[in-house]
Order: sequence, then C-alpha cells, then structure tokens
Amino acid sequence: MKKKLIQLIEKLTAKMPNEMPPIEEIDMYHANFSGGADSIATALILKYGYKIPSSKLRLVHFRVDAQEEAFFDWPETDEYLKYASKTLDIPLIVLRGDKSLRQRIEDRGKFPGAATQYCTSYQKRDLYSKWVRSLGPGTFICASGERRLESSRRSKKEIYQVYKPANAPTKHRFVHWLRPVIHLSETEVWQLMELAGIEPHPCYTNYKVSRCSCKFCIFLSPKEMKTVAEAFPEQFEELVKMEERLNHTMKYEKNAPISLIDFIEKANKSNEQMKLDLFRPCSLLD
Ligand code: SF4
Repeated sequence: MKKKLIQLIEKLTAKMPNEMPPIEEIDMYHANFSGGADSIATALILKYGYKIPSSKLRLVHFRVDAQEEAFFDWPETDEYLKYASKTLDIPLIVLRGDKSLRQRIEDRGKFPGAATQYCTSYQKRDLYSKWVRSLGPGTFICASGERRLESSRRSKKEIYQVYKPANAPTKHRFVHWLRPVIHLSETEVWQLMELAGIEPHPCYTNYKVSRCSCKFCIFLSPKEMKTVAEAFPEQFEELVKMEERLNHTMKYEKNAPISLIDFIEKANKSNEQMKLDLFRPCSLLD
C-alpha cells in the first residue's frame, strides 16, 4: 500500500462514533457502491482507515434496471463493478429488484420527482432493507457515501444513525448507518481514488458527467441531461416518448411541467442555466 495513500486515509478517517458497537462485534459492513468516486472513497476508508478486513466487507450495488439491459444504469457499470471489486479486493453483491425503474414508471404512469422519489425507495432502500432482513440475526453496518458539501440537505447529516428501515432489536438484528466520507471534500475524494490507483468510472471520463448515479437521473441539470441525451440518443428518445404516452414530464420548472426536449434546450440558451445544478443524487434514504 502506497505511503501517501495511507497518510491521507489516516488524516481523513473520522473517529468511530461512540454509538457504534466495537468492530469485533460487527458481522458485516455493507459499503453502498454505485461505482462513483464517493463510493470508492467509502470503501477505501472502511478498509484502510477503520481497517475492516475484506472478509467482513462487501460492496453492495443496487441495479436500478433490475434484470433488464442498462437504461437508467450506465452500460459500463456492470464491468466497472467487477473491476473495482477486484482492485479493492472486496467481494461484490449486486441487488436487483423484481422490476426495473423503467417498468415502475410505466406501471405508475408517472415519473418520480423530488416529492415522490419512489425511484430511491423502491430501487434502493427497500431492496437493501429486504436483503438485510434476509440475513437473519446479526449486527450490520450500512456505509454510504454522502458528503455534507454536496447539498444543503446533506449538510445536516450526521456520520452515524440507526438504520431504522431494517433495524429490529426484538429479532436480534442491529443495523447501523455510517457515513465515513460525510466530512470530505470532492477534491479529497478524488485524491484518494488517484492515490489508490483506481480508474474512475467511465461516466466521468467518457461522458463527462459530474456524478455517477442513474444515467437519466431526475435531478440532472439541463447541461448534464443534454450531455447524456447526446451520448444515448435512442434511449433519450424513448424517454421523450414515455413523457408523451404517460402525459407526464420528468422535469418541472417553478412547479410547471417542462418537457425533456425543452429542458435540454435550456442548456443552449444561457450560460447561467448551464451552471444550474439541480442534481442531487440519491442514497438510501435521502
Ligand atoms: S439516482 Fe436519481 S433517478 Fe436514480 S434512483 Fe436516485 S434520485 Fe432516482
């Protein structure tokens, strides 16, 4: 392990919260793993900062397209997850729901939104909770990669809380939620990845988006939606047709619906709009 990486990890690793059980009492650590830089930093801090052995660590990925071909997921993610798992030497678990996000949108007849973020709850939170419950009694850590500097909503998050959706003391199942990179800056996260010699997910390098989450995330800015639309024109066209068919738009502006076509047009119109960052990628409960 490189000296500079170890030094940086030691500097960036926060004291384990007092509420957390001792490391030896924990059965398994589940690092939420999208493949993005924050999730890699989370895994690195767990492994080299808190010194959790690989045998007690898992990278847990939620595949929002379930069994279907990548649509909301990036086409490169499946391969990237294998690469990251091998490079980090941490086993990978991919969780898939019974329905893809696209199918859920069709079934509901509407897109998810900020007030009805069912994409996160069905495709991530419920999936994780159900899986942890299936593990039976034990003490588990759900580690996620939110950072306070990402948004005002996240600025209020604590490093620790009980993971209520799956915690069940009467069934002898204890699930603790740890946010090991909550205090880190974006620069520090990228430094960790660089020093660890881990190649970034292609969403950053091939498509130049700022975050690795759903390809057509409901929180994308006009500029990022335009970038993704140009890279995946057929799938974008499919979303446009879905909007027409469902008579419901994915995006809203000042509480008024705005079509995806008009939304990405905003990226052309003004530099100010291009800087607009409406993007708030989700974690399990955010
Ligand atoms: S990344 Fe965006 S679209 Fe995907 S589940 Fe999260 S909020 Fe929904």
